[in-house]
Amino acid sequence: MDDVKPKVVVDPSAGFCTGVKRAIATTEKVLEGDGEVFCLGELVHNEAELERLNHLGMKILDKNHLSRTTIGSHVLVRAHGEPPETYKVLEDKSVKITDATCPVVLRLQQKVKKASEEMQASGGSVIIFGKASHAEVIGLLGNTKGKAYAINKKEQLDSIDFSKPIRVFSQTTSDQNEYEDICNQIRIKSSNLSNGNPDIEINNTICGQVSRRGPALEIFARSHDVVIFVSGSESSNGKYLAGLCKSANPLTYTVTGTGQINPEWVLNAKSVGVSGATSTPEWLMLKVAAEIEAMI
Ligand code: SF4
Repeated sequence: MDDVKPKVVVDPSAGFCTGVKRAIATTEKVLEGDGEVFCLGELVHNEAELERLNHLGMKILDKNHLSRTTIGSHVLVRAHGEPPETYKVLEDKSVKITDATCPVVLRLQQKVKKASEEMQASGGSVIIFGKASHAEVIGLLGNTKGKAYAINKKEQLDSIDFSKPIRVFSQTTSDQNEYEDICNQIRIKSSNLSNGNPDIEINNTICGQVSRRGPALEIFARSHDVVIFVSGSESSNGKYLAGLCKSANPLTYTVTGTGQINPEWVLNAKSVGVSGATSTPEWLMLKVAAEIEAMI
């Protein structure tokens, strides 16, 4: 009779990326000093971590309600970044600003801004692969004064003039395969022109901390009978990484935290892996692992 207790292992390569780590450390430091901070939108797309920070004094401020901030209050710009007009509004309101924009996003904003200035001079277009409503994309578009195209479906390419120069960028947390598909469509559209368009520049701006996770995550997923993937419901990289995990191991289940695991998922497993998005805190994965251990 095999009475060996099933293994529950937390993915050693999972946990916060450096941008999220930095944003959370910045927030905690501000809270230690001021006791209260207003974060413009969700600091990270992870409900449990937001709740923890909320208990420490972080409040989420909707950008449409900036007028509710008062002089002297402390406002935090999250890792996704903001368009220049947000800083202008905050400065006009004389609030204290702490900028936790991820340095990777900041560099992308600068590249997009420079490309947009060049394209405006040459009549070309800047294309950003990502959802127009995503916080990071809003910040990128703001750096082009709204002159770039935010694209997340092939059909949206139809409105772009491919006979002029084209500069292409991706939101940092996009799906690498989907970005490659769009880039191939752009190449086809440009080469189908009578003279072709040689002035196309495609920039791989997906963050290495998301794309590098893929191969290690697939190995991790294959090495366990069942995988529980922990991710905030709004996390883009969480959706992408959970998809990779599920392709590598069909017995992958995504949860946002404890209390959602169906015991039947893990009951007959000899090993259960727990992984998560780049915005999933380690403490939450450990809690989920402890819950599974108690079940089996
Ligand atoms: S995924 Fe990359 S770009 Fe996004 S916050 Fe993390 S380190 Fe920064």
